[in-house]
Amino acid sequence: MELFIVFLFGTLIGSFLNVVILRIPRDENIAFPASHCFTCSTPLKPWHNIPLFSWLFLGGKCAFCKSPISSQYPIIELLSGVLFFTIAYKIGITLSSAFVALTFLMLLALSMIDFKYKMAPDSLNLLAILFAILSAYSFSMFVLNLENALLFAGGFTLLRFSLSYILTSIAHSKAKRTQTSWTKNYQTYPFIEAMGEADIMVAATMGALLGIKLALVSIFVAAVLALPVMLYVQGRSLEEQRVPFIPFLAMGTFITYLLDTQIYAYLETLYA
Ligand SMILES: [Zn+2]
Repeated sequence: MELFIVFLFGTLIGSFLNVVILRIPRDENIAFPASHCFTCSTPLKPWHNIPLFSWLFLGGKCAFCKSPISSQYPIIELLSGVLFFTIAYKIGITLSSAFVALTFLMLLALSMIDFKYKMAPDSLNLLAILFAILSAYSFSMFVLNLENALLFAGGFTLLRFSLSYILTSIAHSKAKRTQTSWTKNYQTYPFIEAMGEADIMVAATMGALLGIKLALVSIFVAAVLALPVMLYVQGRSLEEQRVPFIPFLAMGTFITYLLDTQIYAYLETLYA
């Protein structure tokens, strides 16, 4: 029963998350105006705002003008409900688990925005890191989470620096090899950047939430999940080749988080 209430609460939060996902990329206020139809602008009645059910009862159409309502609404509400349910089921209902849920909620919003707009709002990214660090259940764990966030932010910065240098060198192989990306000459040799800054921030969140070992595993899981998509877009236009990576990082993080015990057990056998 408790878990069912947690699920319902999750769908309500998901309903709010939809507003965040739609309004932040457009630079709109997330509190005003009240929910309204995007086609006819009619404000919604309270019973049009019930998570999952409203969309199903209205058959995915606006109650006033009958124009279709994006299936993003029920999908995010359902995912958010499942997210809250799963975390409560796994680690119980505590302040710590609430911050874990909030972290994943931010990752869900970032994934959706990255998927739709190929961008990642800094505000959500910073909140994700903050929530992940606060998900500690003791002060020493809080310090550890902070350390791991810094470690992964730094590690990923170094990785991006190196990859960008390699990519730039390959692209301008006739250029002088002594040029590092710090001494880059933008006019003559355009600099190629590997990964976005947002991916580094997501990595910091993963480090804080999962710890070093699990975060490395989750990056590997994310890469494996992304591989088929990367192969699929090979040879297509440059725009299509820009695969949003945050959804894969988020999925990798969630899978690793759920299977942490099994993964730790497997890692033990590797070292034994
Ligand atoms: Zn309408």
